[in-house]
Amino acid sequence: MPVKESEAIVLRTFPLGEGDRLVSFLDRQSGRLRGVARGARLPKSRFGSTLELLSYIRIWYFERESRELVRINQCELIESFLDLQKDYQAGIFLALMSEITEAVLGEREAADPQFRLLLLAARAIRTNGPSPAILAYFCLWTVRLGGWLGSLDHCAQCGKALHGEPAYTVPGSSRVSCEDCRDNAGRTMKPVSQVALSVGTGALSGTLERLLKENPSLSGSLEISSYALDILEHHMERKLVSRQMLAIGKSG
Ligand SMILES: [Zn+2]
Repeated sequence: MPVKESEAIVLRTFPLGEGDRLVSFLDRQSGRLRGVARGARLPKSRFGSTLELLSYIRIWYFERESRELVRINQCELIESFLDLQKDYQAGIFLALMSEITEAVLGEREAADPQFRLLLLAARAIRTNGPSPAILAYFCLWTVRLGGWLGSLDHCAQCGKALHGEPAYTVPGSSRVSCEDCRDNAGRTMKPVSQVALSVGTGALSGTLERLLKENPSLSGSLEISSYALDILEHHMERKLVSRQMLAIGKSG
């Protein structure tokens, strides 16, 4: 039973038994996995504070052929995001990003781009605070990496460019349509503002750093995040728990 060494990001942990933890993590090479960290909830555990939300760690674990769960042997902290959780909004963003990552990735599917995206977004929150543009960038790229993204600058039905024109979509669908095509569909579509579409195309055509430098519209960022989150929820066939916290935080 050889021990495997890898880099990983902790997605979620659950108490298990008397003093153990069940850990869902994203292994940079092997994809999303779940494992048991024996004694991780006991005082003076050898895992220390390595198993916190979104901790970037080096991990050593054993894979057991007949079992779904790996056995986590040791972890070393590379980078912690625990301090960011002191900020309520930042904490919700981190929880949402980890929940999305866990939900969209199949177990043991290699997912290096999603690993890099998660780390990039968490670091950007540290540098810039919980800007909705970071959430928009993260959500849209997750939709794109999942292969679910449509065009944000052309009508999905007639192909017309949408420059400066009102656009419409059915929540959960990535297809954006022009006004004429919306009318033909019997007006069941909801409007997507030009500002939101412009934040979206900016996020998808450049780096996160560049997007943040452009100081994108707050409402546009939230609107396009919402569009992407609807698509994600449609594909995962359930509602995101942390998304509800986002809405509560906004109104409160
Ligand atoms: Zn059209």
